[in-house]
This record gives sequence, structure tokens and C-alpha cells, in this order.
Amino acid sequence: MIATTALSKRYGEHLALDEVALHVPEGSVYGLAGRNGAGKTTLIGILAGLRRATSGTVTIDAPPERVAVLADAPRFDPWLTGREVVALAQRLTDPEGDIDGVLDQAGLTDAKGRRVGGYSRGMLQRLGVAAAIVGRPRLLLLDEPASALDPQGRREVLDLIARLRGTATVLFSSHILGDVQEVCDTVGVLDHGRLLFQGPIDDLLVGAAGPRYVVRLR
Ligand code: ATP
Repeated sequence: MIATTALSKRYGEHLALDEVALHVPEGSVYGLAGRNGAGKTTLIGILAGLRRATSGTVTIDAPPERVAVLADAPRFDPWLTGREVVALAQRLTDPEGDIDGVLDQAGLTDAKGRRVGGYSRGMLQRLGVAAAIVGRPRLLLLDEPASALDPQGRREVLDLIARLRGTATVLFSSHILGDVQEVCDTVGVLDHGRLLFQGPIDDLLVGAAGPRYVVRLR
């Protein structure tokens, strides 16, 4: 679904991405792991068309209107209800999108009539996912959707991501390797802008042959 070649990004003197060759298989749930500052937001921004790469190529096997992105810590007008937020996203993307269906999927059935100003951070993340999937994207890019949440909020967001398997290719970033381990089949480890590892999660973690890779993440 995604292939990049020698993708680099400079901010002045600072090399934020260094010749990244990302391969995200169609239908996978891909976890992009890396410490704060590793380059995750920069990479997702380039894939989403929100930032310009300095050099390299990006190929995405889906038209731009079928690619959805959820920013780190999404913000919504606090006076809108959850349902209004998703209805707005639906109007902008896909008039056939099932507003109540995605709210149910995100576990917001009982909260959808309430103003989002009263939502917890976890609910806001799930609302963001609902707004992103109402347009039935083929590729969903989620920037740190679970990282800043309490354990219950994290659990709910990770469960939601797991339920998306089969409906879209999902790439999500996290600085918590455990989150990636729980829901992803493929993982990329980014460190100082370089992709240190990419492959099946089982190759990264301790397997029958012992730990094959040692990657220091926070
Ligand atoms: P975080 O989880 O903290 O957002 P990240 O892995 O998403 O980290 P990026 O936000 O992509 O990392 O940042 C990568 C590096 O590029 C960091 O060193 C950051 O300071 C730098 N950087 C990011 N955006 C800019 C910018 N607009 N101008 C200058 N430097 C930037």
C-alpha cells in the first residue's frame, strides 16, 4: 500500500528523515515505533501530503481521497456533538458514509449526542478515528493515537485499531513498543530519522531463536 524510496527530510541543518524505505503491505496494521523526535510525525505528514519531502519518492496505492489521517492530539470544536463532528467529516468525504455505524464502532453510541468539550482524551481519539473512517478510507494514518492516554483509554483505542483490520490498511505511530506489539503485524522502528528495522513483529521481539534485534525505545 505504501512504498517510499530514499525518503529524506531536512529542517534547515537538521536531518529529520534519512533515506527511509518504508514498505507497508496492503491490509496490514503497521506500527511505526520510535522515540519522541525520531521523525514519526514528519513521516506521517509526508505520507498524508501535508509536508513536503526534501528528496526521495512516495508511492501510495490509493487515491488521495481514500487516504485519511488523524493528527497527534486532535482538536474539535467543543460545542459540537460527537455526531456533528462525524457528520461534518462525512459531508467532506463520502455522503454514503455511515455516521452512526462508525460512532458505534468507536464505542461512542451513548456519547454521540453530547458536546465534545466534555469528552475524555481517549474519547476524542476514538472520535477522531470515527471521523477518519466515515469516508471509508483505504489507508488510515494515525499519529500517536494512544500514547497520551490513561490505561483504559489506551486499551479502548488499541481495541478499536484492532477492529479496523480488514477494512483498511492502518499505519499508526507510537513511542510505546508494547502498543505496537499488541495490535500490529508489521513494525518499523525509526530512530533519529533512520528506519532501523522493518518487518514482522515476531522478528523484532523475542522468538524461538532468542532476541534477534535489540532496539532501545522509551
Ligand atoms: P514526537 O513524538 O515528539 O512528535 P516524532 O517522532 O513525531 O516526535 P518529528 O515531530 O517528526 O518526530 O520530529 C523529528 C525531528 O525534526 C525532531 O528533532 C524535531 O525537533 C524536528 N522538527 C520537526 N518539525 C520541525 C520543523 N517544522 N522545523 C524544524 N525542526 C522540526
